[in-house]
Amino acid sequence: MVTPYDVVSKVVDPELRVVTIAELGILRDVAQEGARVVVTITPTYSGCPAMDAIREDIRKALARKGFDDVAVVTKLSPAWSTDMITPAGHEALHRAGIAPPGSTACPHCDSAKTLQISRYASTPCQALRRCLGCAEPFNAVKTL
Ligand SMILES: [Zn+2]
Repeated sequence: MVTPYDVVSKVVDPELRVVTIAELGILRDVAQEGARVVVTITPTYSGCPAMDAIREDIRKALARKGFDDVAVVTKLSPAWSTDMITPAGHEALHRAGIAPPGSTACPHCDSAKTLQISRYASTPCQALRRCLGCAEPFNAVKTL
């Protein structure tokens, strides 16, 4: 039997599509109160526009498995930080060519010689860097 946690933990972050919200540490709790599924999430970067999309994705994923009564609760404390990204999340980012938070090494060739090109990459929570070793640009998740 599929539990609501199984469903919710597989929802991917709409901006960092290679990691799930569980791996990102956004997902705090999934509880069942009678027929209702109560999902508790903690926003990442304040004002992150992705949070509305995440709420929607959680509802849709649960509805597909027959869980129609869903409440998504936002919990602000303790505040999210990039420390909450799990080791599996770090690996998934690296595999996708994205430098995990705390790392500025090139995810392509592992060279430590990289430069920040822009404070903002495709999303506000990532910076754009270029590797001086292999010359490839890459996104790096900002440490928070
Ligand atoms: Zn490189």
